Amino acid sequence: MAITDRVVLPGGEEVPQLGIGTWMMGERAGSLKEEAESVRTGIELGMRLVDTAEMYGDGKCESFLGEALAGLRDEVFLVSKVYPHNASRAGVVSACERSLSRLKTDRLDLYLLHWRGGVPLEETILGFEHLKSQGKIRHWGVSNFDTDDMEELWETPGGEGCAVNQVLYNLARRGPEWDLLPWLEEHDMPLMAYSPIEQGRIPTDGALAEIAGKHKATPFQVALAWVMRNLNNIVIPKASRVAHMRDNRGAADIVLDSEDLASLDLAFAPPSRKRSLEML
Ligand code: NAP
Repeated sequence: MAITDRVVLPGGEEVPQLGIGTWMMGERAGSLKEEAESVRTGIELGMRLVDTAEMYGDGKCESFLGEALAGLRDEVFLVSKVYPHNASRAGVVSACERSLSRLKTDRLDLYLLHWRGGVPLEETILGFEHLKSQGKIRHWGVSNFDTDDMEELWETPGGEGCAVNQVLYNLARRGPEWDLLPWLEEHDMPLMAYSPIEQGRIPTDGALAEIAGKHKATPFQVALAWVMRNLNNIVIPKASRVAHMRDNRGAADIVLDSEDLASLDLAFAPPSRKRSLEML
């Protein structure tokens, strides 16, 4: 694995496997400088995919990124998300325009429905496709969709245009491996793993510590490398601190061998039955 590793979207476009999450960034005046430095450092180090949402700080995170990405917009694959309550045909268009204005850009590379709400999927898709035809978004996708939601999406007119499903997936939350990940692989659709180090709470003792020692790495790097073992997965760790961002970049240089993967299976068991998709 290397920072050059790319994940292929339906349609063939390649995107970086290791990106940057931004939830909780841009909300505290005293932290803005370091957060911006951290994001810019990650991009310089090759983590050229940035994930945000209109929900984060009620627009504050997108506004923060509008500043932090100055001069770098064309270097990154930029992802944002629409609230389910804004996801009607017209609502999704207005919400996107507000996001574009906060982000100081004319287009999103990927626009996701943040989670399923009451608006029929068909309407949201019409809104997404309209935005695509106007060049305001390049791809659209979903988030927090379980396998049955994906099936339903697939049966909805236009649903096959979905590019990505962003879900909670990490060593401690392996539920998607039961049927969602296989479904996505069968349909050549990447899984974008959020909270890949369980918001910093992934247990760092035991197997993770041992494997980290063997690779002269940190347990968090090993946890990220584990998600990246599969080239169908994109990973978006968030790091407000520059040192954490640098550490996360190092995950792309770690190749876990079969012995490492077996130890991790013992410490963090794969699912033995269907579990409903978890959300944070
Ligand atoms: P996460 O990336 O698993 O963890 C972030 C936390 O881990 C922060 O407290 C961070 O600290 C710490 N951390 C990061 N790198 C570290 C390292 N190398 N060593 C030690 N600690 C480290 O959690 P997340 O922010 O929930 O998820 C990532 C992104 O996924 C979000 O930011 C967001 O973009 C997206 N997301 C999407 C959804 C959805 O519903 N679609 C839900 C949740 C998250 P510092 O910040 O202090 O550096």
